Amino acid sequence: MTNDTDVLVAGGGPAGLIFSEEAKRSGLEITLLEKKPEIGTPSHCAGLVSINGLYRIGVEPPADCIESVIYGAKIHSPSNHVFEIKSKNPLAYALDRVSFDKFLAKRATSQGVKISLDTEVVHLLKKDDLIGFQSSDGNVLHSKMAVSSEGITGHLLEEAGLQSISRSSCVPALQFEVCDVDIDEHIVQIFFGRKYSQNFFAWIIPTGKNGARVGLASNEQNNLEKLNLFVKDKLNSPLKRSELSGIITLGGPIKRTCSDGFLAIGDVCGQTKPTTGGGIVTGGICAKIAAKAVKVAIEKNRTNCGELKKNYEKKWRKELGGEFSHMLMARRVLNNLSDKTLDRIFKTIIESDISKDIAESSDMDFHSDAIERIFKNSLKGRIIYLVTKDVIKNLFT
Ligand SMILES: Cc1cc2nc3c(=O)[nH]c(=O)nc-3n(C[C@H](O)[C@H](O)[C@H](O)COP(=O)(O)OP(=O)(O)OC[C@H]3O[C@@H](n4cnc5c(N)ncnc54)[C@H](O)[C@@H]3O)c2cc1C
Repeated sequence: MTNDTDVLVAGGGPAGLIFSEEAKRSGLEITLLEKKPEIGTPSHCAGLVSINGLYRIGVEPPADCIESVIYGAKIHSPSNHVFEIKSKNPLAYALDRVSFDKFLAKRATSQGVKISLDTEVVHLLKKDDLIGFQSSDGNVLHSKMAVSSEGITGHLLEEAGLQSISRSSCVPALQFEVCDVDIDEHIVQIFFGRKYSQNFFAWIIPTGKNGARVGLASNEQNNLEKLNLFVKDKLNSPLKRSELSGIITLGGPIKRTCSDGFLAIGDVCGQTKPTTGGGIVTGGICAKIAAKAVKVAIEKNRTNCGELKKNYEKKWRKELGGEFSHMLMARRVLNNLSDKTLDRIFKTIIESDISKDIAESSDMDFHSDAIERIFKNSLKGRIIYLVTKDVIKNLFT
């Protein structure tokens, strides 16, 4: 049987598009199938991406994707103790995710990646060395390797013999695009506390021209009610332009991300930051590593799991595994803190120099430096005591 292409990719979000472009550049033939009729729509993202991170994945978004340049963040405790991280240099962009994904798709197609829209991959066909996708239009395509970058709704991993991400680590999110708001255009705001969110936080991301994306993720059922309350409390009921919902995955990566002739990248395998739910940069880093691994595997004609493990799984874990573990630990601690304890920690941070320390190390993608600064500070004992007390209380009650 002849192959239709070297690599088949399911899913045209950032991870799939970055992978495809990079793999095509290395000389492989790539066909990407995307179930939606248009790349990027509807958006399911707040679009906050660090500039360092974009640099790291080699993506320079054009001006028309950038809605606002972000220089810092204001972090609010449940009772509104606030500390601010502010830099002289731009730290992040608020991106228009629809335009951004379209930009990534254009980059990929201009290299020669074939994108088939409105085509859902319904089955992964795997027998001996044969790999294929069966799509919703009834067609079957064959290739040397297959990649899933299906995002949170992906279902091909199980057919590839891999575990899916745990649904219990997924948190539903809701977001409004609003206009006519009076906020600092360069500062994002994060709000902790159970009034608006259980197990995550609420956010305000300025999008320029008096606009903002306002959202929250929470494990409770009443996100719409909570978001309406949040918007009324913080922004005095501005004009709502649109609404979106989505799922944020916070459980970290799954145990295995490749099998014979197959690998997974991005949200579908939990390569998403457990602290903030951001996945564009981390998924992009893994996509680039995956592209190199696939090239080597196809060139050597060794697409078995062992080879992919060596060149993909081990390499992305070496690059990001430590960060994911740190963030997972911080997420677990945060989920177990009461509002009262959070308030006390914020007060401690504000009254000490730690907030200045955090500001100095405010790399938005790689939080472990900031986390270490908190835990290594001389106030460590006090904070850990408060945190631990809460964690233990929550474990046994
Ligand atoms: C409310 C919200 C806010 C967020 N805010 C941020 C943020 O500010 N910054 C940040 O970095 N991250 C953010 N994220 C996370 C970010 O959106 C994801 O990490 C990122 O989109 C993951 O990229 P991906 O390519 O892995 O998956 P996706 O972007 O989900 O892309 C997957 C694609 O695959 C397609 N697909 C799925 N199944 C199939 C199939 N079987 N066949 C064909 N196509 C298929 C889907 O239609 C989709 O286009 C947010 C998420 C949510 C829900």
